[in-house]
Amino acid sequence: MNCYDCLQRGITTAATAVCTRCGAATCLEHTKTGAAEIHREEGTGLTTLKIPARRLTCLTCHDAEHQF
Ligand SMILES: [Zn+2]
Ligand SMILES: [Zn+2]
Repeated sequence: MNCYDCLQRGITTAATAVCTRCGAATCLEHTKTGAAEIHREEGTGLTTLKIPARRLTCLTCHDAEHQF
């Protein structure tokens, strides 16, 4: 699979990740690494676990999620 963002610029680069949100394959340069909190139901409420999971998104989805 090749990077979707690179292909749009006419470049072919091997993809190293897949966007969690849109499913596009992206290269390292076009991938943002974030943290995904994991919640667990405990007794009366929801607990956020100490170690977050990894969440990979493409630049487009990263920008969309972080706009003001
Ligand atoms: Zn790329
Ligand atoms: Zn995406």
